[in-house]
Amino acid sequence: MVSLCKRRGFIFQSSEIYGGLAATWDYGPLGAELKRNLKEAWWRSIVYERDDIEGLDCAILMRPETWMASGHVSNFEDTLVDCKGCKKRFKIEHITGKKCPECGGELTQPRQFNMMLKTHLGPIEDATSLTYLRPETAQGIFVNFKNVVDSMRRKVPFGIAQTGKSFRNEVTTKSFTFRSREFEQMEIEFFVKPGTDEEWYSKWVAERFEWYVKFGMRKENLRMRQHRKEELAHYAKACTDIEYNFPFGWSELEGIANRTDFDLKQHGRLSGKDIEYFDDVTNERYIPYVIEPSGGIDRSILAFLFDAYREEKVKDEKRVVLGLHKSLAPLKAAVLPLLRNRPDIVELAHKITDDLKKDSKVRYDDTASIGRLYRRQDEVGTPYCITVDVDSLTDRKVTVRDRDTMKQDRVEVSKVRDYLKERLER
Ligand code: ATP
Repeated sequence: MVSLCKRRGFIFQSSEIYGGLAATWDYGPLGAELKRNLKEAWWRSIVYERDDIEGLDCAILMRPETWMASGHVSNFEDTLVDCKGCKKRFKIEHITGKKCPECGGELTQPRQFNMMLKTHLGPIEDATSLTYLRPETAQGIFVNFKNVVDSMRRKVPFGIAQTGKSFRNEVTTKSFTFRSREFEQMEIEFFVKPGTDEEWYSKWVAERFEWYVKFGMRKENLRMRQHRKEELAHYAKACTDIEYNFPFGWSELEGIANRTDFDLKQHGRLSGKDIEYFDDVTNERYIPYVIEPSGGIDRSILAFLFDAYREEKVKDEKRVVLGLHKSLAPLKAAVLPLLRNRPDIVELAHKITDDLKKDSKVRYDDTASIGRLYRRQDEVGTPYCITVDVDSLTDRKVTVRDRDTMKQDRVEVSKVRDYLKERLER
């Protein structure tokens, strides 16, 4: 997968020409499209198709008090040991004996390590200018709870959603983009009346599981895992992870947590501001409970890629297909002239490309034989290939090939745009 991602322009190592920066990744031309499509699909499902959620886009930098209130300054820690021999660093939970698991060397005493990335704002670097790159997008939502209630006249239950970058100084950085130091999250904080929280929690767990299935992930590769009491974060009453069966084992894609009223209460306390919600129908005042479905965009992309990858035998040849859901596929169609030295064919192919560009990302390609061009598009998951041939010049029809069935339809040039629109919207 790492090699396909690089070869086909999905994901590159950050600063690769300098040897790479550990656990940071760049999305290439097709990866950037896939990521946009994934975020768009999420935003559409959460913010447009429901009427009880507002969108938000907060700054990455926040006042440091935010992270004191949330508990990140004192609790967002890993316990680490260093090997005195090879100098590698390990999380304590990954050590079984008393020696370094890699070289057998002697280990240091365990020590606490805060995972937030620090920076200084302004010209003077001292304790007063210290702040952090956010380790989660959630806190931006909590501190804006009142702003959203007041500006949008929202009533509980309702939610606030945002996508955006988060940063964690992760120690274990294997598994490709799965655990990155800079990554993107898609988070919802759903505010409910205390007492209704368990019901909402169950609804969200089911809903988020189905979301992955809706966008093509195979059910057998997904599971829910409820956290045991001793696993729960200090603020959580319950948490369920949606896990994907990665080649490196079942691992978390998204966590759905019942965060209780912990965060709002803490921000109320530390800011001294009244953060209570007033229900003008029942005349009650309370601090809402929060159900948080928190997913990782990079982890989702990785899971969607693994899930979509398949190898088939077609006429004794291997065919690699990325069977991505059409709404996620980076390119929606490729226009391929059968003969690139025929100006009239090339012209028609360009005309079709220009027409299709109005709706989505399409690509014109004449740099290889038609067999090679099809294989290239299959491998990056393009749902439709449109071939312009000699007959197209007289019958004004082109061949549209379906990625999954490989079935070919002859479609009138003037109807290709509608043909694709109808099929891509399904
Ligand atoms: P893990 O236990 O794997 O470190 P977590 O439980 O700390 O994850 P959360 O704090 O619940 O993760 O963050 C919510 C989501 O953000 C996760 O489900 C995951 O998809 C994503 N995420 C968290 N840390 C990373 C990371 N280092 N790289 C990529 N995605 C991440």
